[in-house]
Amino acid sequence: MIVSVFEGKPQIFLTEQGEGPSMGQPAVFLRLSGCNLFCHWCDTDFTWNWQGTLFKHEKDALPGYKKFEKKNFQQDMTNDQLLSQLEMVSETPRLVVTGGEPLLQEALLLELLKKLQVKVPQLKIEIETNGTKNPSREFFKLPVHFNVSPKLSNSKIPKNLRIKAHVLRSFIDYPDAIFKFVIKTQDDIKELQQLLLEQKIPAEKVWVMPCGTDVPSMDEIAPWLQEEADYARWNYSDRLHIRKNIP
Ligand code: SF4
Repeated sequence: MIVSVFEGKPQIFLTEQGEGPSMGQPAVFLRLSGCNLFCHWCDTDFTWNWQGTLFKHEKDALPGYKKFEKKNFQQDMTNDQLLSQLEMVSETPRLVVTGGEPLLQEALLLELLKKLQVKVPQLKIEIETNGTKNPSREFFKLPVHFNVSPKLSNSKIPKNLRIKAHVLRSFIDYPDAIFKFVIKTQDDIKELQQLLLEQKIPAEKVWVMPCGTDVPSMDEIAPWLQEEADYARWNYSDRLHIRKNIP
């Protein structure tokens, strides 16, 4: 599989789940490279914002920012190599597969997850996805929880690319999937309400969390967002990885 590399190391690490239903739980993260979207504010731009591409990222205009040289930010690893790198899940039986968009590599990912589950039957698996790729039915036979994160218009992605009704429907019907949204403004709330109505996403499956790359900016949003969440009966989550400055 094509694994993301950052600061010279494959992105396989032990940390805590920073957000959503399992926030605060120790977890092993595996970050895969490549994405089918190109969100303007993406904080894992090293997984897709390659030199020579025309995708636009908000940082492109910053002095000193350079698009990433693909060969330095990806590593092709066999599933056997990954199994040995993921030995940590025997001690910490929660694996979060993230990206980029992990479902772009779903055949190899499925094979890896099946092998891991045989080795560690109590393993809990979470897959973070942008909700534009329908996983094969095989995933639903594993103990996989999906954190689905459809993008709003602030991503600057055209709606027909970021909202796929048939994919969202599969995740609505799958009991172990939630939808999470990072919220910055009241306009985001209005757009979210419209999207939930349009796609018939039930409130109990919705998790909202404050946008921000540092604690003060998150804390400006958190109080009013918690009120909005209480009123709409959505779930609210903090973002511990920002608060604790952990990967
Ligand atoms: S879907 Fe996720 S990984 Fe892909 S560009 Fe958007 S924020 Fe980044």
